[in-house]
Amino acid sequence: MTDTSFMKTPQVEIPVSAAGNIPNNPDHQGREDLIGLSREQLAERFALLGEKPFRVNQVWSWLYNRGIRDIDGMTNISRETRTKMQDVFHISRPSITSQQDSEDGTRKWLLKFGDRNEAETVYIPDRDRGSVCISTQVGCTLTCRFCHTGTQKLVRNLGAAEIVGQFLTARDSYGEWPTPNETGRLLSNVVVMGMGEPLFNYDNTVTALKILTDPDGIALSKRRVTLSTSGVVPRMYDLGRDVGVNLAVSLHAARDDIRDQIMPINKKWPLKDLIKACREYPAVSNARRITFEYVMLKGINDSDADARELARLVRGIPCKFNLIPFNKWPGSDLECSSWDRIERFADILCDLGYSAPVRRPRGRDILAACGQLKSESQRERLKRHQTTEAPPAA
Ligand code: SAH
Ligand code: SF4
Repeated sequence: MTDTSFMKTPQVEIPVSAAGNIPNNPDHQGREDLIGLSREQLAERFALLGEKPFRVNQVWSWLYNRGIRDIDGMTNISRETRTKMQDVFHISRPSITSQQDSEDGTRKWLLKFGDRNEAETVYIPDRDRGSVCISTQVGCTLTCRFCHTGTQKLVRNLGAAEIVGQFLTARDSYGEWPTPNETGRLLSNVVVMGMGEPLFNYDNTVTALKILTDPDGIALSKRRVTLSTSGVVPRMYDLGRDVGVNLAVSLHAARDDIRDQIMPINKKWPLKDLIKACREYPAVSNARRITFEYVMLKGINDSDADARELARLVRGIPCKFNLIPFNKWPGSDLECSSWDRIERFADILCDLGYSAPVRRPRGRDILAACGQLKSESQRERLKRHQTTEAPPAA
């Protein structure tokens, strides 16, 4: 039996699944969302409506190539069929609670879903390209010591519609419809590195990734999609088999005793198992290396010995490191390593033959940097709470 004692208990379990018989993201009239249904699910639905299989391709293209938000605009489908579709389907977008632009071009949205839960999505530009960082859960069941999201209790998993909807909202915001050629896109990459542990919301995340990488719609190459996990080992094997996107692993320590202290998941799946899963991840090659994320924590994981141990641990895996300066948040007992220490750590890894760039924090002024997601939405919530429900004491 799986030991889940290290996880927080979800407070409100709202079943959202694109996989089973539960309707996909229904609206208030009970109509199913077209967004977030897999091709197979769409085919089932259209067969039930008595429609031919080619409808799936037509609808798919309207939704994900053209970005349509209204069934009536699907003009190559007969009016009669559109009416039939409107009776049972809707097309969702999360609503935008707030949008903030950083001075470095990073844009962050606080998005609200049908049940008023919220999650954050960030766009990080990089010259003529850019990455959309998407969330997979509201909160997180894990409690990594350095992560602000981990202090927010898990509210629920996001559904496939809500995961894909974050990318669609970002595309709406930059007007990137219809899907441009691969070379001419501002929103060229996706990183599943927002709030939550994606591999604890496996089915919805995989459905969303298949939609994002479908060549007839949003058409992101799998090489441009990276999923970050804290190390849900059995699901890493599944992910490699089911979608094969790039893998990033939040390693953060080279020894179990240190990792146990900062990442509770290590007690369940220790380094030996995690590294084995990385070695066996399919499609890893020198051209498609695993990224090991390593948050630099003063006095905890940043010594010369740690760097050498790290290199030993991953020997033989086509990989690169991403050294992340720790982003401090109110209430955290940890400090970021000094700049000299980070440089020395990077140099040791480089001398041992590893690429180890230091991740430049982006969007810090709008709290969009790694591990800072949550703070703003919580603050917003608090502000609203104060203004709508609890007038300040005189
Ligand atoms: N749950 C997944 C993905 C979301 S976290 C995971 O843990 O991998 C995305 C990345 O941000 C992870 O590498 C995480 O370790 C890192 N991170 C979390 N809190 C941070 C902080 N305060 N400063 C810097 N990086 C942080
Ligand atoms: Fe969850 Fe990832 Fe944060 Fe850990 S680092 S608490 S797994 S979001």
